[in-house]
Amino acid sequence: MSDARLKDLTAQARLVGQRHARSLESMGEDDAARAALAALADAGLLRWAVAADHGGAPPDGLAPSPADISVRALCALREELAYHSAMLDVMLVMQALGSLPIALGGNEELIRAVLPEVARGREVAAFAVTEEGAGSSLGEVATRAERSSDGWRLNGTKVFISNAGVATFYSLLARTSGEVGDGGRDSLTMFYLPASSRGLEIKRFCVMAPHPIGELVLADVKVSDSYRIGEVGDGLQLALDTLARCRNSVAAAAVGFSRRALDESLSHLKSREQFGRPLSTFQGLRFDLAEMDTRLRAAQLLVAEAAEALDNGQAATAEVARAKLYATENASWICDRAVQHFGGLGVKRGSVVERLYRETRALRIYEGTSEVQKLILARELLACD
Ligand SMILES: Cc1cc2nc3c(=O)[nH]c(=O)nc-3n(C[C@H](O)[C@H](O)[C@H](O)COP(=O)(O)OP(=O)(O)OC[C@H]3O[C@@H](n4cnc5c(N)ncnc54)[C@H](O)[C@@H]3O)c2cc1C
Repeated sequence: MSDARLKDLTAQARLVGQRHARSLESMGEDDAARAALAALADAGLLRWAVAADHGGAPPDGLAPSPADISVRALCALREELAYHSAMLDVMLVMQALGSLPIALGGNEELIRAVLPEVARGREVAAFAVTEEGAGSSLGEVATRAERSSDGWRLNGTKVFISNAGVATFYSLLARTSGEVGDGGRDSLTMFYLPASSRGLEIKRFCVMAPHPIGELVLADVKVSDSYRIGEVGDGLQLALDTLARCRNSVAAAAVGFSRRALDESLSHLKSREQFGRPLSTFQGLRFDLAEMDTRLRAAQLLVAEAAEALDNGQAATAEVARAKLYATENASWICDRAVQHFGGLGVKRGSVVERLYRETRALRIYEGTSEVQKLILARELLACD
């Protein structure tokens, strides 16, 4: 039943990808982001970013409970969307990443007002935790939220925020007590921040592949206490719980990019002739294909293992770290081999493998770098802090 449902979801994502990927590539970043979101909403796929209880996809045995999202569904969708279009992929996952803190810790009113709209694509979500001094070490967050007579007043700067300028709200981590350097365990709190808030300025910049991203500069931004997500001091845990739920899907996206790169290599090596014969007849290139396939399959199995464990209610810390590390590092390797197989065409702007090569790179950095995944995995293996 579940496997059939996952296949069905993959088929739906394939249709969306086939229908929209090409036109998205020809648009500017913001237009592409909004068009991708609309396409996903029309196909009903955004509902998989939100739990059934909160207006998301109906319970069907995939999610651990109607109050939770299914990691297997999210992974199946991301793998297939990434195969076709990085923009479709990122717009799906940002709805989950930006709204999960609300699902996990928001009050009833906030949940009812925001989450069903996220599932419909009318609210566009973003997750704002990173700062110049707080990247891998999230506890170093310095953005301040200070109590005021009518709620909170926020000051600080967030960097590398996906969907900055496109989002209608940000789930934002701020310091409500203590000092930078205290680890952030009880001193950080999450807030729902509407994009229309006075004093919020967005500064956009570009990364190496199309991806709506920028900085948030907060100057005396007022937020009502009803927009606080979770208890005061619980913010870091909420952020980590959100990442724990979404991180495996980064690995799934890496698998999608890798699968596309392998398919591109296969068809090019069969059709391109040099030295009077197809490139696919050369043993050195055949060895490459075999290794690409093996690494891809291993990544797929690691993603599936971690997703199933998460949907069974396990923490799956080691499984997720393993999957993210292996799938994203190997996606870069697989896409690099594909570029090599295309020769000069592989680096020509506009070729599929050139695009994949750029699109896979950031996956080794966001939601926990590869080095951080190694630290997590080693800690699990050693059973220490
Ligand atoms: C495309 C993109 C989208 C992003 N989207 C978002 C978003 O939507 N929301 C958000 O909040 N953030 C987002 N980020 C930020 C991302 O999560 C951070 O870039 C990431 O956590 C790494 O932090 P950093 O860039 O500060 O690198 P640093 O933490 O400064 O790390 C630099 C290098 O040092 C290594 N390193 C750090 N600590 C250790 C250690 N203890 N041991 C060994 N090596 C270590 C790292 O692995 C890395 O190689 C995004 C980033 C990118 C590139």
